[in-house]
Amino acid sequence: MQVWKFGGTSVGKPERMHSIKNLITKDGKQKMVVLSALSGTTNTLLSIAESLYKNNDPEAIQKIDALYAHYQAFIKELYKTENGLKKGQEIIEKEFNFIRSLVHIKPFTLKEEKEIAAQGEILSTQMFTAYLEEEGVKAVLLPALEFMRIDMDDEPMLDFLDEKLGEMLKPHTDKEIIVTQGYICRNPQGEIDNLKRGGSDYTASLVGAGIHAEEIQIWTDIDGMHNNDPRVVKRTFPVRELSFDEAAELAYFGAKILHPFTIRPARLRNIPVRLLNTMQPEAVGTLISNQTVSKDIKAIAAKDGIVGIQIRSSRMLLAYGFLRKVFEIFEKYKTPVDMITTSEVAVSLTIDHVSHLKEIQEELEKFSTIYVDTDQTIICIVGDFTFNQNGIVNRVMDALRNIPLRMVAYGGSEYNISVLIPTEYKEQAMNMLNERLFFYEETMKTIFTAP
Ligand code: ASP
Ligand code: MG
Repeated sequence: MQVWKFGGTSVGKPERMHSIKNLITKDGKQKMVVLSALSGTTNTLLSIAESLYKNNDPEAIQKIDALYAHYQAFIKELYKTENGLKKGQEIIEKEFNFIRSLVHIKPFTLKEEKEIAAQGEILSTQMFTAYLEEEGVKAVLLPALEFMRIDMDDEPMLDFLDEKLGEMLKPHTDKEIIVTQGYICRNPQGEIDNLKRGGSDYTASLVGAGIHAEEIQIWTDIDGMHNNDPRVVKRTFPVRELSFDEAAELAYFGAKILHPFTIRPARLRNIPVRLLNTMQPEAVGTLISNQTVSKDIKAIAAKDGIVGIQIRSSRMLLAYGFLRKVFEIFEKYKTPVDMITTSEVAVSLTIDHVSHLKEIQEELEKFSTIYVDTDQTIICIVGDFTFNQNGIVNRVMDALRNIPLRMVAYGGSEYNISVLIPTEYKEQAMNMLNERLFFYEETMKTIFTAP
């Protein structure tokens, strides 16, 4: 069985729901379909929660009414029969009654916020399943709240999912489409919780791993993962294939198309992940698996808002235990360290969680001199950097010859080289890298064949 996940924009309009119905039923094969909330819904729900935290009930009610009107209009176009519409009406009535009931709960707490946030997926999946039934598709909705659990550390419990979902699927061998909610889960207290914003991708991957799916497909509105950020550089193209490692590096570096945790469960059970475009279903997209054939530079990604910290100490020279002392401080303040480079007398590292920067700095200053650089950007170049491949690092450095490099990290893995630069040079650096790494031969050809 395959798992197909559709994001908010893919279900955000009634006609989009109509087209994904055609998409998922075309080959007649049984699939599990994971849906997000309709685009914009989760944001609206969270802003209703915000009004309720502030005890501004009239504002909350106004937002609920507006959202309700949106769903009213939506179902009128979604369903084609009177019966279908009646079913749709019942669904939104029930869920909006629940949302309205939360207005009266005082004080409004995180528990209620999470209950509100879950309503987007609860609505979209019920509406879609009812639509499939109206169209005569054999479909069933399996509630994610019954099989998706997180533990005390917010980690999804894959063993529980395996067993529970396996059981829940058994009576449904005759169903063509099995629908479930992305994003939502239960926590160890049994309360409604979630896998954090954008978490539906993660759900799809966990479900795929849980049922040992043949493939996980993530359907969005672009044609796969691109080789560079289209908002920053002029020419980009979809990357045909990536290894799990390459995709994991890119996901962290803000290649927004995939939730950063998505790769983990899929890689664990070796299930290929395919990124596809709902608007252009024939496009090949990006295949992420453990079998990449092309060995080359695949993509460039950047992450802003980085702080570089240099820690100098005469005590570092020939000493052991120095790095442990440094890292213990970051651990104490639960601040992840991303990039690291060292010399004999100093170590430089980067962080992007700056809420405890002041305390960290004070503790480090007890035994070293600190230089902090804010407004930095990490640029990460991902691909096959196998150590014996000569020349690749040179190409990267050549492209960056006019950029002040604050840090360079190479050799951490065989899949990436990262540089830290002041953010003001980001656009220039990304464009230079793009041209040099992906369009070099083309440019050379035009130069040498020019009259
Ligand atoms: N609806 C959730 C969000 O907007 C989860 C998702 O779309 O993946 O964050
Ligand atoms: Mg998404």
